[in-house]
Amino acid sequence: MNQVRSKTKSDAAGKGRADAHHLPTDHLETVSSWGGVSKSLSYVYRPATADALHEVLQLARRSGRSVGLRGGGNSYGDAAMNTENIVVDLRRMNRILDWNPETGVIRLEPGVTLSELWQYILEDGWWPPVATGTSFTTMGGSAAMNVHGKNAYKAGPIGDHILEFDLMLASGETITCSREANSDVFYAAIGGFGMLGIFTSLTMQMKRIYSGLLDVETTARGNVHEMLDYFYENTGRSDYTVGWIDSLAGGRMLGRGDVHRANYLAPGDDPAPAQTLRLENQHLGPNLFGVVPRSIIWMFMWPMVRDTGMRVVNQGKYLMGNVSGVKRYRQPHVQFHFLLDYVPDFKRAYSPGGLIQYQPFIPKETAEDAFGAILALCQRRGLPNYLTVLKRHKPDDFLLSYAVDGFSMAMDFRVTNGNRQRMMWLTQELDEIVLAAGGRFYFAKDSTLRPEVARAYLGDERIAAFRALKRRCDPDNLLQTDLWRRVFPDK
Ligand SMILES: Cc1cc2nc3c(=O)[nH]c(=O)nc-3n(C[C@H](O)[C@H](O)[C@H](O)COP(=O)(O)OP(=O)(O)OC[C@H]3O[C@@H](n4cnc5c(N)ncnc54)[C@H](O)[C@@H]3O)c2cc1C
Repeated sequence: MNQVRSKTKSDAAGKGRADAHHLPTDHLETVSSWGGVSKSLSYVYRPATADALHEVLQLARRSGRSVGLRGGGNSYGDAAMNTENIVVDLRRMNRILDWNPETGVIRLEPGVTLSELWQYILEDGWWPPVATGTSFTTMGGSAAMNVHGKNAYKAGPIGDHILEFDLMLASGETITCSREANSDVFYAAIGGFGMLGIFTSLTMQMKRIYSGLLDVETTARGNVHEMLDYFYENTGRSDYTVGWIDSLAGGRMLGRGDVHRANYLAPGDDPAPAQTLRLENQHLGPNLFGVVPRSIIWMFMWPMVRDTGMRVVNQGKYLMGNVSGVKRYRQPHVQFHFLLDYVPDFKRAYSPGGLIQYQPFIPKETAEDAFGAILALCQRRGLPNYLTVLKRHKPDDFLLSYAVDGFSMAMDFRVTNGNRQRMMWLTQELDEIVLAAGGRFYFAKDSTLRPEVARAYLGDERIAAFRALKRRCDPDNLLQTDLWRRVFPDK
């Protein structure tokens, strides 16, 4: 989470370092991690075509700068930052190239956002097979991190739904990858956080749906044991499941919270699917309680990212959940999936220091003890987190996979000048718990991972295989980010 100040070193891209001043200063911009904890200056380029993208790669070589890729910039840490070097913002490469409403196969450019995608396909009766908690993510950024949704235990990560992609290598050459062609690159570039090449097009399979609504059930659970039990009992009959943990509750109530599960409607369950599938029936609503515009709700969230406010909110939420018992209702897809978009700027409530997220993935055999230990340690250190989300996962076949047959717990921490160092120490202690439990980490959410921890959970063999592919696809080490230099430094 410390700002990376060192310059890129030891790469062929650095040979032209003397010409670095040739990059026009009007491309210099402040680029920030999504959580706002890290900020640095970079030369930002926004190509709209593959040719323009190729030109940026050539420019980078001439100027001796490395190139970091960026989609929507929704990675919590430094994954889409490249301090003092070039950042390529790919959001203008956002055309839908082909769509088949009969088969649900779509081919699109990497800058298409999840929001643009679902709006394009919904009225034809399709939905993205994997939806992140925010719809501002791009498909290129999502493939590069191999993102998951609240159905990860059933649908796997997004990579499981990618049929093929075109990857522009650092040389400018484009290769097509699938499970059959260039399959080693296919399984490594998905989840390879933009280090092997640039996705310039992706072909993906969408999910057929028969209604714009989901059947949702919510209930409160009294502690981490009951929480996990609910997942074990219900995930077999649920398309989506997510838990929201009250991280401030302690003692016998450690890990208590609410669980939401949802199911698609079967054909015939919705009396008016043509209506519920219409875009205007899939909104988050412009105002809270019909009065407060969504754009300013973050201001009212300020107390909720402080201990006292959050304690009151969590207590109230839990009691309401307990009193009302199991609730069942139908909800538009958008409202179920993109709750966090309801307050578009909620991260501003964490100003001025920003927030980091810590999301360990723990095998099911050790999850209950490890999550209990993690929650208790955060409380003992006086560094509670304000949003804690529990999900179920299954393993996948990708080279740098973060997934386990188990659970993940994502925790948002407020960072201040006063707690920055303590926060760093806390994450190191948490790393120990996660590693001892056989857990893994996720680059999209990471700000603090150290090389030795990455080595411990990925293993030397996987890292060596990834480095070998990196040397093949990008021999001059042109593609870099702050995260790459932090977690995989030159030996
Ligand atoms: C509120 C919120 C909720 C979230 N919920 C979830 C969730 O439920 N599940 C989940 O898995 N994640 C979640 N995330 C994390 C987010 O989905 C990932 O960080 C995702 O990668 C962001 O996509 P992006 O387009 O913003 O990519 P960026 O953050 O801009 O980039 C991500 C990575 O992709 C690389 N990259 C970008 N474009 C390309 C390209 N065309 N080719 C190759 N590499 C590229 C970048 O170099 C970087 O390493 C959430 C984030 C936020 C802020």
